[in-house]
Amino acid sequence: MNDFLNLEKETIDLYNEAMEQLKEVFHRVDKIEEYNTSKVLNAFWTSKISENHFNSTTGYGYGDIGRDAIESVYKTIFNTESALVRTQFISGSHTLAKTFFGLLRPGDLLLSISGTPYDTLHKVIGIENSPSSLKSFGIKYAEIDLKDNDFDYEQIENFIKNNKVKVIEIQRSRGYSTRESITIEKCEKVIKLIKSIDDNICVMVDNCYCELVSTKEPTDVGADVVVGSLIKNLGAGLAPNGGYVVGKKVYIDLIAESLTLPGEGSDVGPSLGANKPFLQGLFFAPTVVASALKTSILASYMLEKLGYKVNPRYNDERADIVETIEFGNELDVISYCKGIQSGSPIDSFVSPIPVETPGYKDKVIMASGSFTQGSSIDLSCDAPIREPYIAYEQGGLTFTSGRIGILKAINEIIKRRNN
Ligand SMILES: *Cc1c(COP(=O)(O)O)cnc(C)c1O
Repeated sequence: MNDFLNLEKETIDLYNEAMEQLKEVFHRVDKIEEYNTSKVLNAFWTSKISENHFNSTTGYGYGDIGRDAIESVYKTIFNTESALVRTQFISGSHTLAKTFFGLLRPGDLLLSISGTPYDTLHKVIGIENSPSSLKSFGIKYAEIDLKDNDFDYEQIENFIKNNKVKVIEIQRSRGYSTRESITIEKCEKVIKLIKSIDDNICVMVDNCYCELVSTKEPTDVGADVVVGSLIKNLGAGLAPNGGYVVGKKVYIDLIAESLTLPGEGSDVGPSLGANKPFLQGLFFAPTVVASALKTSILASYMLEKLGYKVNPRYNDERADIVETIEFGNELDVISYCKGIQSGSPIDSFVSPIPVETPGYKDKVIMASGSFTQGSSIDLSCDAPIREPYIAYEQGGLTFTSGRIGILKAINEIIKRRNN
């Protein structure tokens, strides 16, 4: 492949070593891919998916059998009562916002137990002022930080014994923080605790980047509502947009009425041609997630060998597809992002630079050459330009193209060091 890549000898040697050393770790990923592929196929079988389901509706979207069948497939995969999988959800953030507005009423209390939620939710909740926030409607909010990369069980117990909490949010993936992502085992433990104190609290999980990374999903361990984006794991690069919410029927019905309108809920919403890519994306998702995981594992191994602090380490258990790399200096992080961009199928010829970005205090550099705008199941990497220069890298639709992206990026750093 070096006919096309022009990699330094040092890059190739390190790559060959990594591929040899990672066989066992990759084998573990293959086993999860196999399990999840059978889980997804089983859902297609039990929902009797056929070519009819690729047809779509326009206008109101009444009687969209494909859309309804897709929701039945999601319900089966997540082992739960109900699902909403819609192209009317613009993004993961929009799906989360509609979920909050569907579940909460004036005077209710929302509690986050995984620290401050994802940046785009600050104005939704009212952590930052907005005339349209939950807070502006009189919905209260509190948060409890994680403690040593786990839930603060004691504080959570005290808080819910002393306050009437309506919804608890758990965000599994790390967002732009340096904490570890939250495994299913930890979710299970905390949900058991919450339910043992107050069975009426709705536990809602932001599952972005975590779908199909392990063999269980939060709904398997007691979560009431689970939310995610289709331009991440479950869309597998094929879904053109959208989001999903799965969980208990009473809650999903409320969220449907928040997405569309009271009285019509999930009965309306045309699929507008998305049924086939939604189904095909889901079919590919276990394999694409495995590719993204292997891409992150390879990056983790090689960058650690080059002396950078990485998280997770190559042989750590993973809860999501994200790899964080602490570069420690601006030049390395920029070189790395430029390398990722140059290895992308789309926009390989442009060179990313750090720019001011709405919602962020520092400049941010983003490398993304994706088939779908903003898709981060495609190989992508972004980094706020501030100490200690941490990059967040994720995705890789195929492991072969993902590792070529990683090699181009690492080669940029090696070339810079050698000059
Ligand atoms: C990506 C992400 C979101 C938001 O998804 P978008 O589709 O980008 O709006 C929310 N929460 C977490 C943890 C994420 O990683």
